[in-house]
Amino acid sequence: MLIVQKYGGTSMGDCDRIRNVAQRVIKTKSQGHDMVVVVSAMSGDTDRLIGYTQQFTSLPNTREVDMVLSSGERVTAALLAIALESMGVKAISLSGRGAGIITDEIHTKARINYIDTTKIFQFINEGYVVVVAGFQGITPKGEVTTLGRGGSDLSAVALAGALNAGMCEIYTDVDGIYTTDPRIEKKAKKIEKISYDEMLELASMGAKVLLNRSVELAKKLNVKLVSRSSFSDAEGTLITKEEDIMEKPIVSGVALDNNQARVSIADVQDRPGIAADIFGSLADNNINVDMIVQTIGRDGKTDIDFTIPKTEVAITQKVLERFKDDVQSIEYDNDIAKVSIVGVGMKSHSGVASTAFRALAQDNINIMMISTSEIKISMIIAADFAKRAVQTLHSVYDLDK
Ligand code: ADP
Ligand code: ASP
Ligand code: MG
Repeated sequence: MLIVQKYGGTSMGDCDRIRNVAQRVIKTKSQGHDMVVVVSAMSGDTDRLIGYTQQFTSLPNTREVDMVLSSGERVTAALLAIALESMGVKAISLSGRGAGIITDEIHTKARINYIDTTKIFQFINEGYVVVVAGFQGITPKGEVTTLGRGGSDLSAVALAGALNAGMCEIYTDVDGIYTTDPRIEKKAKKIEKISYDEMLELASMGAKVLLNRSVELAKKLNVKLVSRSSFSDAEGTLITKEEDIMEKPIVSGVALDNNQARVSIADVQDRPGIAADIFGSLADNNINVDMIVQTIGRDGKTDIDFTIPKTEVAITQKVLERFKDDVQSIEYDNDIAKVSIVGVGMKSHSGVASTAFRALAQDNINIMMISTSEIKISMIIAADFAKRAVQTLHSVYDLDK
């Protein structure tokens, strides 16, 4: 069977850990499997590289940013190949370009368009372990791109799909998917199996254990996805079709997203087309707007609040500059957090939302914005209360039981 394994930043954190990864790869290989291994940069490296690019301007040229950021994964890929060779296993590292990962041209958050697998298959047929630098690709014109933070998960799933792998294993520093981030709530429980849709919501709402886009792609391509630890042999969590899961809890997990900022625009002219103008300009600049709340208009004016990633505040400020004469004020608040509860069982149960609102109210936590989908409820609150809100919600739905 062909297996794609992905090792995250902590797993690749230093040379001893890379040696540990090499031993794990060899163990799987010796069971007779063909292997493609996708790696992240050493933990902290991507942040460090981003820091360098911002020493000169707050809005550096994104093409150059990608040239810098993509280097972290090339280092670890080559080091793992060296480690494997030193242990007597044929291995070769490939950059995104070498692996044939073709993306669109949106630097720093490119989407994969297709993968030319010719070269990878050639190396596999020659008996190599192929080590691919995650998080990157190239445009049809040959420009280096990166896929957005956490993008190595996406590299792994996309490769597993393109290579028709039997399994895609995502190795990280926790041994699977928990009912909430085990670093925030010690009472979090490991989930044995979770549906693609629930995992997608958890990931989209901030559970960074898997990148949301990787889960979306795994569902689309029907990739068998497992999340597990590179530091233990514990069974991980299988992410699979909803039909394959017998027990469906009403709420499966709680997620926290600390990376959003809130934009509040006061006294916008309440006329047709204004929202289209504002959000159209944001979309033209590839800014990811998440929650949007518009209050009911009064005296021909309305307020619009929405959230964006904190990392996109600078570009948003620049884009919204031209609306400043049409509105009373535009304010930015970085001190917010988004807490969400997710569960397929919500579809058939009422009262799930009111339980959450009541629980937060009892804790004196004010909810600033709410958004819901069929299987998710998200609330924006002050950042200071984030941890407590997660713990409260985790306990009110008995996830610690
Ligand atoms: P990697 O560097 O391996 O990609 P990440 O740091 O991106 O690892 O993701 C792993 C982290 O995700 C864990 O250390 C954990 O703190 C966090 N996490 C958030 N939510 C969850 C959850 N529901 N289950 C498990 N881990 C979670
Ligand atoms: N190194 C990149 C990041 O830190 C990609 C990844 O780890 O998945 O976002
Ligand atoms: Mg990650």
